[in-house]
Amino acid sequence: MLVRSLRFLWTAAALTLAALLFMSLIVAASFGTGWGVGVLVVGLIVVGARNLYQLDCLLRWSRTPIGTPVPPAHGTWGRIYAEFERRSRQSHEVRDRLSAALARFQDASQAMRDGVLYLSRSNTIEWLNQCAEQHFGLDRTRDLGAPVTHLVRNPDFVRYLQSRHYGEPLVMHSGRGAGLTLQVQVIPFGEDQYLVLSRDISQIEKLETMRRDFVANVSHELRTPLTVIDGFLETLSDGLDDFGRDEVHRFLVLAYEQSSRMRRLIDDLLTLSALETGAPDPVVEEVDAADLVQEVNKETELLSAGRHTVTMKVDGSGVLHGSYKELHSAVANLASNAVRYTPDGGHIEMGWRRLDDGGGEFWVQDDGIGIEPDHIPRLTERFYRVDRGRSRETGGTGLGLAIVKHILTRHQAELSIHSTLGKGSRFVVRFPPARFTPD
Ligand code: ADP
Repeated sequence: MLVRSLRFLWTAAALTLAALLFMSLIVAASFGTGWGVGVLVVGLIVVGARNLYQLDCLLRWSRTPIGTPVPPAHGTWGRIYAEFERRSRQSHEVRDRLSAALARFQDASQAMRDGVLYLSRSNTIEWLNQCAEQHFGLDRTRDLGAPVTHLVRNPDFVRYLQSRHYGEPLVMHSGRGAGLTLQVQVIPFGEDQYLVLSRDISQIEKLETMRRDFVANVSHELRTPLTVIDGFLETLSDGLDDFGRDEVHRFLVLAYEQSSRMRRLIDDLLTLSALETGAPDPVVEEVDAADLVQEVNKETELLSAGRHTVTMKVDGSGVLHGSYKELHSAVANLASNAVRYTPDGGHIEMGWRRLDDGGGEFWVQDDGIGIEPDHIPRLTERFYRVDRGRSRETGGTGLGLAIVKHILTRHQAELSIHSTLGKGSRFVVRFPPARFTPD
């Protein structure tokens, strides 16, 4: 189209020139050569000035913002202007489409939970998303255009980036945040360009550590009683006749204690595993809270066997929606801990009360050995014990409070622990109003 307009312009110029020449010849024939040349020169100046003026208009228009209407013109110049305007509009539309696509792509990269970093030659940062800013401690407003290795000085990262071998991702410990562990993968593309993807794997690493610790703990907990049983059996089988009946009986009782400990541990592990591994929601029964406390109170008296004063306080009634078996297990666990960690002659109190907000709480309180504040936040971790020896002596598995926590989470209840070393502890379980039948 533009070519056709330009051709048209040339034809028009040639025709104008021919007309001018023709007119000059006529004038020269009529009034003399001088007049003819004069008309030709004046004509050429007028035509040239007009075209220069139009060219100047075109140049000025080309510098105006896209979308500005073309200056008014007629004839060939009008057609040329219209053509330029059409082309400018077209390229404007293409640019708009590309900008929108780029913006969409950047929005998508921004929304990613992984860090995305584009590097060009010399590892210069071309673009990065918010996640990459957090992972590498970069700032988009400041760091674009800077070489990434000047800003991220982690030696593992720098070595990996410069190695040019990106088959395996790099696992690096970033100094950012509390112990951030990142998995970094570099993907080369185009000519000397790199896409760096970073993923926060701190949680996965933590879970993996927990799994390893758990396996080590379980093995250790099972091996200790097993070693004792092994020892007794070996001693007896080596020389049964060397021991008297009473001695053999004592060995057997001790071996039985150890096997019971193993059984308790396995029972607790199975309970915990059932609660943790996607056990269905607890059956919803109507549990009378006061009855539950009464029941646990009786069991606690039996467990204490007169070594402690066990009392109970019930303030208000309440029908809880939940699994009787699980709730009973949680409160009984707290009560059994109170018995085990309160020296003989101590006082254990348990109770129940309704709260003003419509919820309710159980509590178990003792005046036993108490717990140092530092330990309190970790008590519900599996196998966490303040005093391993005392826990074992009293038949503990280190899993009781972990089980309690799981049961309570399944019932949207919360456990709070208040304790003073040497004075005693109070474990409170609070249920939200939604867990109760309205009165
Ligand atoms: P354990 O089987 O060792 O009792 P738990 O998970 O029930 O395991 O409890 C974890 C730790 O919390 C115990 O080892 C003990 O150190 C501490 N603990 C729990 N209840 C009490 C309590 N009433 N008084 C003092 N310490 C307690």
